[in-house]
Amino acid sequence: MTAPSAPETAATADARDELTDGYHLVVDALKLNDIDTIYGVVGIPITDLARLAQARGIRYIGFRHESNAGHAAAAAGYLTKKPGVALTVSAPGFLNGLVALANATTNCFPMVQISGSSERHLVDLKQGDYEEMDQLAAAQPFVKAAYRVSRVEDIGRGIARALRTAISGRPGGVYLDIPAAVLGSIMDKETGDKTLSRLVDPAPRQLPAPEAVDRAIELLAGAQRPLILLGKGAAYAQADDQVRDFVESTGIPYVPMSMAKGLLPDNHVQSAATARSLALKKADVVVLVGARLNWLLNHGEAPSWNPDAKFIQIDIEAKELDSNQPIAAPLVGDIGSVLEAIAERTKPGQIAAPAAWREELAARSATNVAKMAERLKADPSPMQFMGALKAVRDVLHANPEAYLVNEGANALDIARNVIDMHVPRHRLDSGTWGVMGIGMGYAIAAAVESGKPVIAVEGDSAFGFSGMELETICRYNLPVITVIMNNGGVYRGDDVNPLETDPSPTTLMLAARHDKMIEAFGGKGYRATTPAEVTAALNEALASGGPALIDCEIDPSAGTESGHIAHLNPKGITVGNITPAKK
Ligand code: ADP
Repeated sequence: MTAPSAPETAATADARDELTDGYHLVVDALKLNDIDTIYGVVGIPITDLARLAQARGIRYIGFRHESNAGHAAAAAGYLTKKPGVALTVSAPGFLNGLVALANATTNCFPMVQISGSSERHLVDLKQGDYEEMDQLAAAQPFVKAAYRVSRVEDIGRGIARALRTAISGRPGGVYLDIPAAVLGSIMDKETGDKTLSRLVDPAPRQLPAPEAVDRAIELLAGAQRPLILLGKGAAYAQADDQVRDFVESTGIPYVPMSMAKGLLPDNHVQSAATARSLALKKADVVVLVGARLNWLLNHGEAPSWNPDAKFIQIDIEAKELDSNQPIAAPLVGDIGSVLEAIAERTKPGQIAAPAAWREELAARSATNVAKMAERLKADPSPMQFMGALKAVRDVLHANPEAYLVNEGANALDIARNVIDMHVPRHRLDSGTWGVMGIGMGYAIAAAVESGKPVIAVEGDSAFGFSGMELETICRYNLPVITVIMNNGGVYRGDDVNPLETDPSPTTLMLAARHDKMIEAFGGKGYRATTPAEVTAALNEALASGGPALIDCEIDPSAGTESGHIAHLNPKGITVGNITPAKK
């Protein structure tokens, strides 16, 4: 909105009160549906939309890159069970945001990306408009649904449709295209207000059929080595009491996927996280609770899994079933309702995990925990991942309200094993794609949505994808402490280019001082070379409550190529044996 060219008179003010426009209708529709925060990057044609949202009491968090704003919206959706909203400009801004929207869809997080777009008649005839692109078509393959609003009177409907689609059934990413001309269209306010609606029961419960529940109970009742696998769908469902009751009343050991850590505290007596390989290899009946049998679970295949294992899958999305292994007892519904139905229909004592199985897993856990304790005791110099991460673990134990964001290769794999969680939905990580770049976006959303401190454990390479958002963190004075595992490289920092011309493909600057970056924006920077220094810096930063960054100097030879997933690299004849070209 440009500044009025002439002083406002009573007559023009009255006229304005009787009219509305696309901008106002978008903001009013979002507010009507309890959207209280928007994450975005402004520019043509959505700058005034952000201004107006802010003026009307919606919190607007402005980022430096749309991917990071999108990742923040996705994390907000996961944490709050309400669609996170990202706002982007046309074409390039939209495309930047689309990465996050696709990632949200892959992770089953509810998110809506609202993007301005250029003049439809120019775009459709490819006349070469400013930031010309058919954004609706571009978004389609990557999202749960994509919609366009072509008339100002459809804005309310478009927003309602986008929000419900994102949140209901399996949550996911929705794209909503609003051309500039629609935002700028004016209509009578009274008529416009009538076009808006508030969603009734946006994510209805989905109850399983009784016979499906009985089938699953019978299968579990006959199991010798039952196992529960908790995934991030279970964390998202916010059915924490039902999950705990199911686990504890049946006595079945459970393994949490990384973002389900903390749903029950990691030191729970039934946790088989520290006997994971044995649990998967031997379980005869497995209950998947909001977890998919995808690559993260080796597709349910031997030798990682017992080839005779039978699966019970609790999922809100029927088409997920049988995607990798036959599902002997499908339970389609929302996790809270399904677990309640199981509890209601199970006869007393009907399901009980045999003691021998529990003891076998407990014994393996004890051995593995002792081995890990030995490794954690070592405090070599230069500092290794384990030493730095143990320091983070201990500070988190003392501050369980703090959120943990985690990405990287080794920084992710080792932190997942070393840092246990005690509170539901307090760990946000690279997720289903194993993506890099979510770090600062997720951290900002966790701080904004919860008001609690956030510790973002980042590989130095992973941090680079969203590092400029340090400025955003400082601008909003958020309690985000970024802890960088700086070993000077992608995977590790000691690789060499045999031709000695340029740095090797995996080399980053070993001497990089990320702590200086945050100081440029007024945050507090620390450099840590020992675990004791990491502890001291973290405690000081938490006590200050402001933005901080701890650059941990890690041994450049620490870390393995691709972390725990090196087997996914294709094996040509040259891998591990690359020789320089002959002169
Ligand atoms: P993880 O990576 O932790 O194993 P996934 O993202 O693979 O978890 O799986 C999450 C699953 O949870 C998805 O298949 C999704 O459809 C399902 N899901 C999400 N929300 C719910 C819910 N409220 N009730 C039931 N299933 C859900």
